[in-house]
Amino acid sequence: MIRHYESILKAYTRLEDVTPLKYDCGSLCGALCCQNNGKDGETLGMWLLPYEKELLEALTQDDDYTSFTFGKAEDGTETVFCDGKCDRRLRPFACRIYPFYPYIYKCEDGRTKIEVRIDPRARFSCPMAMKDSYLRPSIEFVSAVKNAVRVLMKDEEICKDLISMGEFLCEIGEMQDKLLG
Ligand code: SF4
Ligand code: SF4
Repeated sequence: MIRHYESILKAYTRLEDVTPLKYDCGSLCGALCCQNNGKDGETLGMWLLPYEKELLEALTQDDDYTSFTFGKAEDGTETVFCDGKCDRRLRPFACRIYPFYPYIYKCEDGRTKIEVRIDPRARFSCPMAMKDSYLRPSIEFVSAVKNAVRVLMKDEEICKDLISMGEFLCEIGEMQDKLLG
């Protein structure tokens, strides 16, 4: 368990001081992603990495400001809900990379590549994820996400989860493109 926590904490630090844009994107939309991450049943919640729930429970147990509740997606993936605010240092991995996800794949030459893609679940709510959005993540942010993902990929179990989550979101994105153009 400890080694999984260490991997996640290391990934958190890679994403500690970066945000997708060079300014606070919350000023564009009133921080919709945080406002919309309400209670289980009303929203989908932010997906968690394997062991992240236990880590966040431990990290927030004495924190009066951050109130997390946990749920499960239909496929069993653990999720977290909040009341629209949290101690930034304790925000989950999914919040650190929102509205993006890592797509991990093998090239023809056998090398493993990571692409930072728009999360299709954010397409209708996040200004950055909307089709034809002019807002692009900074190079620093994309590189920090890739670094964090490389750290997580050293943990076999978490790596497996990231790969399958990436494949799933890629399928959803392709379906959206077919249906909506
Ligand atoms: S919804 Fe998108 S633009 Fe708005 S705060 Fe969240 S990530 Fe930033
Ligand atoms: S946990 Fe924090 S960063 Fe994530 S949605 Fe809630 S308030 Fe926003």
